[in-house]
Amino acid sequence: MTETVVSSALAPRDHREPNRLWHTFCDMNAVARGPEFVVARGEGVWLWDESGDRYLDGTASLWYCNVGHGRREIADAVYRQMTTLDAYTVYGDFSNAPARDLSERLASHAPVVDPRVILTCGGGESIDTAAKLARRYWAVLGRPERTHLISRTGGYHGLNGFGTSIIGMERFRTGYGRLIEDTSVVAHDSAAALEAEILRVGPERVAAFFAEPVIGAGGVFLPEDDYFTEVARICDKYGVLFVVDSVICGFARMGNWFGIERFGVSPDMIVFAKGVSSGYLPLGGVVVSGRVADPFWNEAGNPFMHGTTYAGHPAGCAAAMANLDILEREDLFTVSLEVERHLDAALRTLSGHPLVAEVRSGMGVMGAVELTGEALDDLGITTAEVFAEARARGVILRPVPRALLVSPPLIITWEQIDHLVSTLAGALDAVAARHGATAVR
Ligand code: PMP
Repeated sequence: MTETVVSSALAPRDHREPNRLWHTFCDMNAVARGPEFVVARGEGVWLWDESGDRYLDGTASLWYCNVGHGRREIADAVYRQMTTLDAYTVYGDFSNAPARDLSERLASHAPVVDPRVILTCGGGESIDTAAKLARRYWAVLGRPERTHLISRTGGYHGLNGFGTSIIGMERFRTGYGRLIEDTSVVAHDSAAALEAEILRVGPERVAAFFAEPVIGAGGVFLPEDDYFTEVARICDKYGVLFVVDSVICGFARMGNWFGIERFGVSPDMIVFAKGVSSGYLPLGGVVVSGRVADPFWNEAGNPFMHGTTYAGHPAGCAAAMANLDILEREDLFTVSLEVERHLDAALRTLSGHPLVAEVRSGMGVMGAVELTGEALDDLGITTAEVFAEARARGVILRPVPRALLVSPPLIITWEQIDHLVSTLAGALDAVAARHGATAVR
């Protein structure tokens, strides 16, 4: 307990009243039965609920709050922008200074040849933009049959139309009727599998390959050392566009701007969101190489008839510029590499725990603690139970079906990392004891 921050406007809800907020990714029947977890305030790595209890934000909300909560200078930048020009579109020849400056800044750091930047309001929208652009690129070049999109098992690319169609997790794809056609998924750990799939489909039919540098929401799966070099070589060999989804890995979470720099390859497109603004306002986009942009920018006059109302929103771009100022000024690119090492070492201390099958970390400020098959399948332990136990002890983690994920703000201290990991250990012990799991190993 620290301080009380409940204002009368935020007085706890009377739970006899129906809840009008339909939460994301959840069983609303279960959520509506209990009190919601109302986050009232944030500062650095810390969050406070309505009753003033404090929690360590071990996930930076949904992987995005790279600079931590409560950065006044981002709020000030947004205020200044909104009181100068609140909002305006970048439709047609309209532009605005924050959108132009942000695009220039991102282009100057992107490992992409002759980059152009398309702005959106988030990750899923950007994936759909990149997927449409890939298909349209081939159509404009007179190859309309090159429509096939290949992605990876465990890959998460948002839940818009194309994102839902290329996602590498079956549970997000079912129940929506026929999804977008000409897509397939290959094993995430094998460049040979990508080549085999390109040959199976026929290279002349494949438009693009989508991959996250490190698979995030799918459970933190790290690539082998030479995976991306091989992928880039294979895409190049068959002319397939190589699209990197850096939505999680970007903006210092992997010690650089877009994550993919670690592997020394230059993609045709990079999709970004989340850390670009640390989520202070919703923002995303696609960095597009000159190769892909040229047919739309040259004198042949082939407009890409795609975009959204709020693309290039000046307040969002101002938030991103202020966020990037912080990343650079505090050198979070270098700091995060040290955080990565410390987090990796701390998480690995859990690998001997009777409930833990595997710890995956050591590439980027993120990690997964996967539970054993015995715990999950035989004892009926769920990651949601470990998550709830840890949250009751003051640490917020992310439960996915077989693992607990962590992805804290990059400003986390060693002491806070140790607190996060020892709390997770305590939560695992408590759950193990509840299920009589000590005999599992
Ligand atoms: N790509 C990746 C790698 C992501 O992790 C996410 C979101 N978790 C998305 C795309 C989708 O982003 P959004 O939720 O902003 O649509």
